[in-house]
Amino acid sequence: MNRKEPCATGPNKWQRDLPQFTLSWSTIFKRIKSISKQNKLKEFFYKLAHRIVITKKELHLYGIEDNKSCHYCGDDDSLLHSFLGCQIAVDFLRKVLCWFNEKENSSITLNSEEILFGVATDNDNKIKQLNFCLLYAKFYFHFQKINQRACNWDAFVRKLNFMLKIEGFA
Ligand SMILES: [Zn+2]
Repeated sequence: MNRKEPCATGPNKWQRDLPQFTLSWSTIFKRIKSISKQNKLKEFFYKLAHRIVITKKELHLYGIEDNKSCHYCGDDDSLLHSFLGCQIAVDFLRKVLCWFNEKENSSITLNSEEILFGVATDNDNKIKQLNFCLLYAKFYFHFQKINQRACNWDAFVRKLNFMLKIEGFA
């Protein structure tokens, strides 16, 4: 029986794309299990880790879209573009971090790996909440973008606050 983890290529490819990438597959898997009570958010995190989040690049490849341009900025879309390369995404995620820092009276900064996969929590409730906010922000941003809808900051914050209640943070 081949006991080799069949889906372990994700972390290797992240290492290729993010030079500072340090996470093991088991760490990522633990984070997916504990980050949220909601299956749709865990599933999104799982797909992100496995790099199977669908963007315009894939839709174009499968002939569903006639171009692979990012809905927000017009550059070529891809998974990396979606969360790290797109200036609109970078600004949005930065705004989420500022919002969180203001709310929690903290001054946390994040590298690319942490923006994508969160921060080691050491069971700290504030960091758990930050990781959830980052995941929900990527989830919201991705689905607004793929459905060609604008990101509305006030609507996002209302949804995020509601989600934080569901998750037991507020
Ligand atoms: Zn873009």
